[in-house]
Amino acid sequence: MNLPRSDALVFFGATGDLVYKKIFPALYEMERRGHLQVPIIGVARSDWNIEQFRARARASVETHGDSFDEKVFAKLQERLGYISGDYAASATHAALRKRLGDSAHPLHYLAIPPSVFSNVVQRLGESGCARGARVIVEKPFGRDLASAQTLSATLHTVFDESDVFRIDHYLGKEPVQNLLVFRFANTFLEPIWNRSYIESVHITMAERFGVEGRGHFYEESGAIRDVIQNHMLQVMGFLAMESPPTTKPESIREEQVKVFRMIRPLSAEDLVRGQYRGYRDENSVARDSTVETFVAARLHIDSPRWEGVPFFIRAGKRLPTTMTEVLVRLKPPPLGELCPGRANHVRFRLGPDVTIAIGARVKRPGGALVGDPTELKVLSRPDGDEMNAYERLLGDAMVGDGTLFAGQDGVEAAWAVVQPVLDNVTPVHEYEPGTWGPAQAARLEPDCSHCGGDPAMAIVPGT
Ligand code: NDP
Repeated sequence: MNLPRSDALVFFGATGDLVYKKIFPALYEMERRGHLQVPIIGVARSDWNIEQFRARARASVETHGDSFDEKVFAKLQERLGYISGDYAASATHAALRKRLGDSAHPLHYLAIPPSVFSNVVQRLGESGCARGARVIVEKPFGRDLASAQTLSATLHTVFDESDVFRIDHYLGKEPVQNLLVFRFANTFLEPIWNRSYIESVHITMAERFGVEGRGHFYEESGAIRDVIQNHMLQVMGFLAMESPPTTKPESIREEQVKVFRMIRPLSAEDLVRGQYRGYRDENSVARDSTVETFVAARLHIDSPRWEGVPFFIRAGKRLPTTMTEVLVRLKPPPLGELCPGRANHVRFRLGPDVTIAIGARVKRPGGALVGDPTELKVLSRPDGDEMNAYERLLGDAMVGDGTLFAGQDGVEAAWAVVQPVLDNVTPVHEYEPGTWGPAQAARLEPDCSHCGGDPAMAIVPGT
């Protein structure tokens, strides 16, 4: 790729939660590695001076960073600039253009509520700040298919699609890329990776914690919008896609979008929603809220490879543990008496640790001809100096590499999958915090009864 490198970074919403928790620590790491050579300009309404902005950056890195070195921070703070002004005011953007000086390829990061997007994009265009520029947009990318299309239309009034980077921090994670490599760099997998050998696929994203003070945001979102439409479908896309013809970003994205388009839109019969007891008492949550904090869904891919193979997705807050895992169950072999219970599986743990495991049967010692379950396991722990997701994504966007970002077509195809079940189409069932969601979820995975109704047993065999 021979695209121009971004020569300035601009953060709209620089006083906000995301910049505080994620962006400053990522910028610090870039500085520490010598990857940052450009000015950084924060823009927000708050009437701050540069010293207040620097103090905010310092507090952020000290609180949320992996390390803190005065010399590294001193270099970072020299790069910082701050512009205070209304996002919709031409004066704010004129000041920004002036501050950008001879920067020809700024990267604008919209860390602002979606309601402010269109004003900012319009003013960026009018002021000349968008010329030669790229833009990073944070999720949510709309609230449904129609608003996602409107958002893209707004962005396209000023930016080419190739200059729009829709950040989905989940995609930056090493384990997701690991999944891709395991699938396509191993010849032994391809012959069994289809409906002839695979019985079902289970994707689970469990969080032990609740909404953690972000009730206001969550009320607008819920689990379907927050993680199913994006993170869970992304993982499903990587698991189910055909081999891309090249490893170029556009090849991978194209194959993933093809999967999204083949996923049958979700129906009410294939969905169970839950809400943890106590959610309605959280700050900024309506006392009669019907927003879901848990979803169990059964999805189908209408393709020759996957016809008849159910994909079960489970995601929720206040579950017994925090982990994301994929379990691919193979069909049982013909001599069933050799292996009572479960057959083989492939298991990918995507977090907190990264595990790839193959579930196999080995002979139980003794006279009986019977197989016991075991796992051939590869476990990899972070080496302590891995780039975190935001650092990697910022670096990629600065050089125009869109591999780990969501494209317009993918976002819209994913909305089309969940569109029929948005907004209270199905009832929401209460569940106890610390459990695997409402009992009603078991109806989607009836064979889960072998594990006493505890899906943890179903998804983490042998552990
Ligand atoms: P905040 O609510 O913290 O808002 C960011 C900044 O925007 C605020 O500091 C405020 O700055 C300005 N702002 C807030 N409300 C308004 C408003 N009504 N009109 C104009 N300006 C306003 O948001 P976050 O930082 O949490 O998130 C930013 C974006 O990133 C959002 O799109 C969010 O959905 C997304 N996101 C956030 C994540 C997180 O962990 N926080 C995770 C994933 C995505 P000022 O008043 O100084 O202008």
